[in-house]
Amino acid sequence: MNVNKTAIGPRERWQNAAACRDTSGGSAYAEWFSEPDDVRESDAAREMRERAAKSLCRSCPVRRDCLVAALEEHDEHTIRGGLTVEERRALRRKVNRTAAEVAKAA
Ligand code: SF4
Repeated sequence: MNVNKTAIGPRERWQNAAACRDTSGGSAYAEWFSEPDDVRESDAAREMRERAAKSLCRSCPVRRDCLVAALEEHDEHTIRGGLTVEERRALRRKVNRTAAEVAKAA
């Protein structure tokens, strides 16, 4: 069997283009995307952190892929695709409501 060991899947492909990814494979902006573990974050600090992360997401070439993956995975952590956990929950509810309305009308 011929196995291409350099082949990468679609997920790895978009993750490699992520604006938040650094060249060593980690996240160069990790502190923008999650609450600090060791201290309680103030509302002002959280707003500044989320604003910085969302700003980076707006320039990200794979924002749509990231958001779709976060919704599919029910990711309940950090900002992904430019949306907070709460914003993704609201979007999921809206999508589900719309799907239910379409099903009812069909
Ligand atoms: S949309 Fe934001 S969280 Fe997602 S890969 Fe791009 S920069 Fe990272």
